[in-house]
Amino acid sequence: MSQLHVYRTDAIVLRRQDFGEADRVLTLYSPWRGKFRAIAKGVRRPKSRLGGHVELFTHVNVLAAQGRNLDIVTQAETVRPFGRIRDDLWKTSYACYVAELVDRFTEEHLENQPVFDLLLQAFTYLDEMEPQASASSRHLPPTEAGVAAVVPDRTRAGIDDAALQAAVARGLVPRPEDAPSTQSGAALRQASQIREPGEAGSTAETAMRSFELRLLGHLGFAPELFQCVQCHERLAEGENRFSPSGGGVVCAACGATHPGARLLSVNAVKAMRLMSREPFGVFRRLRLTPDQALEVEGALRSHINFILERQLRTSEFLDRMKADRKRERRQAALAGANA
Ligand SMILES: [Zn+2]
Repeated sequence: MSQLHVYRTDAIVLRRQDFGEADRVLTLYSPWRGKFRAIAKGVRRPKSRLGGHVELFTHVNVLAAQGRNLDIVTQAETVRPFGRIRDDLWKTSYACYVAELVDRFTEEHLENQPVFDLLLQAFTYLDEMEPQASASSRHLPPTEAGVAAVVPDRTRAGIDDAALQAAVARGLVPRPEDAPSTQSGAALRQASQIREPGEAGSTAETAMRSFELRLLGHLGFAPELFQCVQCHERLAEGENRFSPSGGGVVCAACGATHPGARLLSVNAVKAMRLMSREPFGVFRRLRLTPDQALEVEGALRSHINFILERQLRTSEFLDRMKADRKRERRQAALAGANA
C-alpha cells in the first residue's frame, strides 16, 4: 500500500455538497492544482475544526491528502472569508454564476494561476460591492428624480442614450475631466451610477461580462473580435454580427449567410475588445447603455452556451431575479404615478 501524498495549497471553495451523515464534498480551485475535489470529513458536526473555514466562496488554505478517488482535507484555515457575499442575494447569485462558469469550463488538476487570480479578483469585487439598495429605494419618495434614477423608462432612456453615446464615442472610457458638463450629462452619470445589480449596464453586470471575457481568454475560448470568423478579413465598422457557431464576429457581407448571427453594434464590439484585453478591473471605467449592455450580454451568453452545449443553471436563476426586479420597478413607478 503506497503512502498518501500530503500537500498544502490555497484554494477557493466553488461548490460543496453534503455527503454521508456529516461530510461534505468540496470543489476547490487552487493556483497550481487547478480544480480538484476533496472530502471534508465530519465538517457538518458542530464541533468540527474544519467547519467555518470551508464555507462557499471562502479563500482557504488547506492541508490535504491525495486519496484514491477523492482527496481528503485534513486541515483548513480561512485566508479571506468573503462573508459579505453570503449576506446579499444578488452578490450570492453573481458569485454562484462565477463559480459555475469556472467549474463548467475547467478540467480537474490543470494548473492555471491566472484563473485563480481572476476568481480572487471577482470575489473581492463582489464582497466589497455595495449591497443592493432596492429594498430601501422602494421607500424613497416617488419624486421625478427618484423614479428617473431607478426606472429605465423608454423616453428617458432616449435622452440618456444620446449623452452616453457621446461618452462612448470618446473611446468608451470617460475620464472625470471629460465628463459632460450639461445638466442631462450630470443626471445621466448619476443614473448610471445608481443602476443596481441585475440592471443592464450596471457596474455589477459589466463586471460579469469582464469576468466572462477574461476567463474565456485564460482558457483558450475567447471569442474572435478583430477579424471575421468566416472570411478572415479585418472587421470594419458596419453591420457586424456575432455568430456563436463561428466563435466570434462575422462581417456584414458574411453575416447574410449566418442565419443565427445577431447584430452587434460597433460600440458593443469595442467594449468587448477592451474587456478581453484589459485586466478584469476595467469594468469600473466602462459606461454602457442598457442596449449596448444587452448586446454584449446576448453575444457572450450565446458564445458560452454554444461551447458548453447548454445553458448554465445560475444564468437561468439570474434571469428570473432580473425579471422580478423589473416587475417590482414597474409597480413602484405606477404606485408613484398614482400617488
Ligand atoms: Zn466576412
